[in-house]
Amino acid sequence: MKRKIVVVGGVAGGAGAATKARRVDESAEIVMFERGAYVSFANCGLPYHIGGQIQERDNLFLVSPDRFKKWYNIDARINHEVIKIDRSNRKVQVKNHTEGETFWESYDKLIVATGGNSLRPPIPGLDLENVHNLWTVQDMDSILNAMATKSIKKVAVVGAGFVGLEMVEAFVNKGMEVVLIEKDTQVLPAIDHEMTKKIQTELENKNVQIILGQGVTEFEGKSGKVEKVILEIGTTIDVDLVVVSIGVKPNLNILEDAGIKIGIAGGVVVNDYMQTNDPHIYAAGDIVESTHLVTGKKVRVPLAGPANKQGRVAGTNAAGGKLKFKGVLGTFIVKIFDIVAAKTGLSEKELAKEKIEYFLSYSATKSHSGYYPGAEWMIIKLLVEKGTGRILGAQVVGAKGVDKRIDVLATAIYANLTVEDLENLDLAYAPPFSAAKDPVIIAGMVASNLLRGEIETININEFNAALEKGEELQVVDCRSISDIDMMGHIPDAEIMPVDEIREWFGDLDKDAPTVLYCGIGYRSYLAYRILKHHGFNVKNLSGGYSVWAGKTPK
Ligand SMILES: Cc1cc2nc3c(=O)[nH]c(=O)nc-3n(C[C@H](O)[C@H](O)[C@H](O)COP(=O)(O)OP(=O)(O)OC[C@H]3O[C@@H](n4cnc5c(N)ncnc54)[C@H](O)[C@@H]3O)c2cc1C
Repeated sequence: MKRKIVVVGGVAGGAGAATKARRVDESAEIVMFERGAYVSFANCGLPYHIGGQIQERDNLFLVSPDRFKKWYNIDARINHEVIKIDRSNRKVQVKNHTEGETFWESYDKLIVATGGNSLRPPIPGLDLENVHNLWTVQDMDSILNAMATKSIKKVAVVGAGFVGLEMVEAFVNKGMEVVLIEKDTQVLPAIDHEMTKKIQTELENKNVQIILGQGVTEFEGKSGKVEKVILEIGTTIDVDLVVVSIGVKPNLNILEDAGIKIGIAGGVVVNDYMQTNDPHIYAAGDIVESTHLVTGKKVRVPLAGPANKQGRVAGTNAAGGKLKFKGVLGTFIVKIFDIVAAKTGLSEKELAKEKIEYFLSYSATKSHSGYYPGAEWMIIKLLVEKGTGRILGAQVVGAKGVDKRIDVLATAIYANLTVEDLENLDLAYAPPFSAAKDPVIIAGMVASNLLRGEIETININEFNAALEKGEELQVVDCRSISDIDMMGHIPDAEIMPVDEIREWFGDLDKDAPTVLYCGIGYRSYLAYRILKHHGFNVKNLSGGYSVWAGKTPK
């Protein structure tokens, strides 16, 4: 008998599920309901159309309902919202928003990929004109329409996550004055604080006003239009337009009402086959919980990569195949003007929450051989399991080549590799692309040295805390005077360039706890070996001056 598959939601998870189901079963009847006016659009491209990098609006639409029909024989119906699931009779109730009618559609297998909606906390004035979210094509169009009136000069972006940062860039590109407001004490809260300093500097260099550690209490307006943002401390900021980008809430209503199980992470509980507690109902995308591949715990990761893969798995299985979805690492990447930041696995904050014992290492390296033009610095932070050397998380901030390194690191974590595996990877090298020791390999070497006890480090937080407490530390800067003049130095540090340290170390107190640093940790590593051989009580400052000060190495 012909199988009937109904898909709810027609974008990343839903469209992927429907088309994969077709490839698995040519004879199935497949109907896809999308409540909005568009199917298969590129949500991730919306900020770039606003910013002008993607010039043609049409390029955001990947597969039209017509192509769904012609290529895949899928009946993709836009403006159709599924409002109820009747599990016992295996049918869904659908509201056709164009005709205003409601009808029932039967299914053998149902795939739900209803995604999320932007969070809209109860802030007074949130409904004023020109206070926007950015999640749908309609949201994008309203922002562009407002900008087209030419009366928009000053914009506030609330929330400094990746969508918020992409919107800041878009507005700056369009010549707007931008203020970025974030309740956390850093931009891009998903990565660790010290790794965000360069992003903050980049934003400041583009004249973005950054307000951290402040929530919005109210939007005020005149004649229904927003004019002011009021912060917790009472400060008032004049604005013409606001984009609120503070997170996503999964669309679970129809599933919850039908008694589908919701888990502790706030998403739909599914097994490895993306099947819910009803074997006839599958779910995929932003609404589901997935297994975190480092902790084994359930998490909700609202990103396009997992949504697409989960859709493919759900579509396969609903059509009679057998595929598994293994889990997520939360890998993401974001471009902020000329800076790129990326993360995979767990951050320090997350490790602390999970009470996992770890050590960390930083390495600063160039994207390819320094002697070949165009190389740019990047900092890699590795978070490593104590004792075993298993990689638990990685963050990369730089410009060129960050994408490649984060993907190698995500692959390494997926494969449960240790930092000693990293130092042994056989990666492609020619001067335009990498260095004989790729940045990932250097990161592995630095962390492996720590794992094997070949060097002891002090991390930035411990170092700063010791300075604040006024602990007696002998801090030694191992860079040349010219480097120090160019970049600055840690206050009260002794200056002892590595090429002179064998001559001068007699001037240092051998028994005092000593912290060595240089720009990126290499010269201080050489100095560390020298002093250690002479019996000094010494540690290297992890990440060196560049991470401590949030500056690009010279
Ligand atoms: C501006 C922006 C930028 C982004 N950038 C990135 C990025 O760079 N990288 C990344 O990994 N991720 C990014 N994301 C996130 C990514 O787009 C989502 O994780 C992904 O689209 C989720 O797929 P989904 O199918 O679960 O949900 P969605 O893509 O949101 O699709 C769900 C669809 O279901 C429809 N729907 C909901 N309820 C019903 C119903 N009852 N009946 C019928 N239809 C319904 C909705 O209208 C919606 O179209 C971005 C998102 C946005 C908004």
